[in-house]
Amino acid sequence: MIISSAKPFEEILELLKDENDIFIIGCNTCAARQHVGGEPEVIEMQQRLEEAGKHVIGWVLPTAACSVTSYDSLIEKNPVIRDAKAIIVMACGSGVSIVSRVTEVPVYSSNNTDSLGGRSQGEVIPELCAMCGDCTVYYFGGICPKAQCPKQLLNGPCGGAIDGKCEVDPEKDCAWELIYKKLEKAGRLDLLEKVWDAEEDIE
Ligand code: SF4
Ligand code: SF4
Repeated sequence: MIISSAKPFEEILELLKDENDIFIIGCNTCAARQHVGGEPEVIEMQQRLEEAGKHVIGWVLPTAACSVTSYDSLIEKNPVIRDAKAIIVMACGSGVSIVSRVTEVPVYSSNNTDSLGGRSQGEVIPELCAMCGDCTVYYFGGICPKAQCPKQLLNGPCGGAIDGKCEVDPEKDCAWELIYKKLEKAGRLDLLEKVWDAEEDIE
């Protein structure tokens, strides 16, 4: 089971400071078992955000956030997600990454992912999330360079990509090319102006 912990609510509010019409996606597997993304926590998050002046348009609790296959599958569960201007995912980093893949709406994480907890149910999970314990994947368009760039570069590409493929693993797309395209499409290239300290690189 993936082990996650909830970010302080003040940090979540800061992340969402420019957002409204927020939709919440929980996770009824790992996050629910750890009380950081099940139904009670999703409802509490909705209440706290509304008390803080945010408009929450709805929520959904998929079996697992990392099992979401398409935006349409979320629309089927709760059609109001069509009107979402921002999404907060109460799951592990891989759940956040998977949801980010299926939408252009900005996706935020309410949790930090700390460890695999001994085993992982899906091979895909370690490839998407390196369980760093301080989830910043929003700044990278939901494509985590800590997990998906072999050099774990946080401040941009190494420049070695060839035809969009990673110089370390030519079987894979360069994570930074994917990050740039995703943020460009979302009109959020400004997020790349943030400079990350070397000590923030994952060890
Ligand atoms: S920043 Fe990346 S490695 Fe850290 S919890 Fe988020 S997705 Fe996982
Ligand atoms: S080519 Fe891209 S993914 Fe590969 S190491 Fe360089 S920046 Fe990272």
